[in-house]
Amino acid sequence: VTSVHARRALLGGTEVDGLRLEVDGAGRIASVALGAAAREGDLRLDTVLYGSGNAHSHAFHRALRGRTHGQGGDFWRWRTLMYDVAVRLEPDSYELLAEAVFAEMLVSGWTAVAEFHYVHHRVGGGRYQDPNAFGSALVRAATRVGIRLTLLDTCYLTGGPGRPLAPEQSRFGDGTVQAWLERRQALETLASDTITVGAALHSVRAVAPDDIAAVAAALPGEVPLHLHLSEQPAENEQSLAAYGRTPTGVLADAGVLAPRLSVVHATHLTDEDIAALGGAGVTAVFCPTTEADLGDGIGPARELADAGAVLALGSDQNAVVDPWLEVRGLESGERLRSGRRGRLTPGELEQARTAGGYRALGSPGGFVVGAPADLVELDTAGVRTTGSLLPEIGLTATGTDVLRTIVGGRIVAEAGRLVDGRDPAGLLRRALTGLTAPPTAALAEGAR
Ligand SMILES: [Zn+2]
Repeated sequence: VTSVHARRALLGGTEVDGLRLEVDGAGRIASVALGAAAREGDLRLDTVLYGSGNAHSHAFHRALRGRTHGQGGDFWRWRTLMYDVAVRLEPDSYELLAEAVFAEMLVSGWTAVAEFHYVHHRVGGGRYQDPNAFGSALVRAATRVGIRLTLLDTCYLTGGPGRPLAPEQSRFGDGTVQAWLERRQALETLASDTITVGAALHSVRAVAPDDIAAVAAALPGEVPLHLHLSEQPAENEQSLAAYGRTPTGVLADAGVLAPRLSVVHATHLTDEDIAALGGAGVTAVFCPTTEADLGDGIGPARELADAGAVLALGSDQNAVVDPWLEVRGLESGERLRSGRRGRLTPGELEQARTAGGYRALGSPGGFVVGAPADLVELDTAGVRTTGSLLPEIGLTATGTDVLRTIVGGRIVAEAGRLVDGRDPAGLLRRALTGLTAPPTAALAEGAR
């Protein structure tokens, strides 16, 4: 495809007729025309939205879907179950699982994903022959299905302030910032038109303040940097006890608050935290289906946006893979905590799903020249969507209303399948074999 014509499209929260895009050789938008007629050779589509930028994913958490509710408990209990999957992953099995999860994302309308990747080494911490065996596997998985990937190679050094890694965290650690920087740097050779190599600090729990500052200083300015911020009250308490600062305060002191930073789970914040994050122009990544599932709480999205932060959305644990359910969750959370409707405008919600997410991935996004030609064609005449105003379609559509997904100007998924005919459910069935054995969570109990 070198040109696309949409009968109508949603542009910055507004419906427009006759959107025509030209796509360059790198799969980026070269020109945008509105009110345009279709031309010969155009890929002709009906109702088109810009693609969804998934700003936070852990692909392997998909193995826990539908298997943890009966266990009850809290976030920390869930984490022991998650660690139980993490110790069973190998690069080959992870490649199959990531391929299946990325396929599910594509058919559901996520066109790009920031994979927050922290399983690096053998159980016990030994290195694979290729120290980036897992990272390379994720890149191959994304390339095979055609999703745009920002691989956030994650620095994970401690099991809590001043504590060594627990045995079940040994796979995550590189020992020092320098060792992590060198291993991450080696991944840069895998970058391409659709693959970006970003970086992450797991959390203030997992990287000490001096090491956060060292990363901020050493990492080139264009590299997107992510971090889990304040998902649980207990991590704020740990941070206050160890450093006398909230996690946001630690980041401010370390000099890491900047527009290239994306903070994930901006859930439990003080007014000072909100002002600091907004003032620095960070991206605040909300993962509403996960935050509800894990009982995390509801973060102050409206206040963060008002303070200057950019909002983005992520599927995180991938128990739900559906950009519009995240959109709904973001607005629903605001309504539940405020007693008001329409706390985020349709345009703001659309921005969070699209350009906000792409910004977190280190890319422009939306129907603008230079942004990736990533689109979804949506069925707006189905049982869920018929009768909806297009600007409000984000509050009614689901991933199953996606007719076609286009990445870099190329159709990658159609009618629930990858364009080569492969079925994400079949890929998932194959990939989950051996990864969903009954939990032996006692192994990891007490790891919090
Ligand atoms: Zn996460």
